Amino acid sequence: MDIYRRTVELLQTKLRIPPDYVVLFVSSATESWEIIAQSLTIEQSFHVYNGAFGQKWMEYARKLRPQVSGVSFGLEEELLVETLPVPSQTEIICLTQNETSNGTQVQSSMIVELRKRFPDLLLAVDATSSFGGIALPIEEADIWYASVQKCLGLPAGLGLLICSPHAVEKAQAVGENNHYNSLLFLLENAQKFQTSYTPNVLTIYLLMRVLENGETIEQIGIQTKQRAAAWYAFLEKLPGIQPLVINYTVRSDTVITVQAPPEVVKQVKEAALQHNILLGNGYGVWKENTFRIANFPAITEEEIQRLQEFLLVNIS
Ligand SMILES: *Cc1c(COP(=O)(O)O)cnc(C)c1O
Repeated sequence: MDIYRRTVELLQTKLRIPPDYVVLFVSSATESWEIIAQSLTIEQSFHVYNGAFGQKWMEYARKLRPQVSGVSFGLEEELLVETLPVPSQTEIICLTQNETSNGTQVQSSMIVELRKRFPDLLLAVDATSSFGGIALPIEEADIWYASVQKCLGLPAGLGLLICSPHAVEKAQAVGENNHYNSLLFLLENAQKFQTSYTPNVLTIYLLMRVLENGETIEQIGIQTKQRAAAWYAFLEKLPGIQPLVINYTVRSDTVITVQAPPEVVKQVKEAALQHNILLGNGYGVWKENTFRIANFPAITEEEIQRLQEFLLVNIS
């Protein structure tokens, strides 16, 4: 309980979680997909996505709530909030802030616009691969979730689910209480800094220590954005490969996706292995013709330099 309490305090001071938001510990981002469908959606959530993770979220939700719907948008497209065809029965809008499969992100200004256009609906945001890496407009949405193995640099097996007062009200209105991970049950336990099942205490402790030792999210975000800009500039100069995403306004700061012909991707990954470097595979439809570079805070300058030197020598 003390570790829980202290970790929440640090999330408030270092990552700017508003004091009236409730922080819940779950096992993964995937679990949060189900909790949102099970405990916050009576019939209909609406999903806006441009890649595999956003789509998977919709598919998981649809298994529990068959009326779930959604729209996809293009890789290079900014989210068009004004014309977003949100059905009138929608209870909750679901958005993936950083689409890990293709290295795109939704700008904070879009989240602000969504909130303005749909002030009465819940807004849920998957920030799994950006939370802890860049500053996010937490107070502009109702549910944020992430898992700790991405920007928080920790071993996998812990998820954070963060709820606004509006989300808590909606959970009470829905009244769903049939599962070990029903939101009402988690919220009730969280009031006492307890959980409904034995949580991943070791990783919660490690999260506490990482937050204690780390900078504020504003400082971390500045570094992440500088490093991302440097990565994109570096990649644009290399012949034979290029960033997958051309439109710099939707490029991810935390997941850098590099595109090349499949034979080049294969050869670079193999050469990297020879140098003890494991390049991130492409994902889903981008499996063969991209690889991905994590731009997470725990990565050191030396590691970035080592990878850039490798790419300079091995791509031509
Ligand atoms: C990694 C990831 C997930 C899944 O996270 P788990 O911890 O494996 O459940 C979900 N959404 C996004 C955007 C991700 O990057």
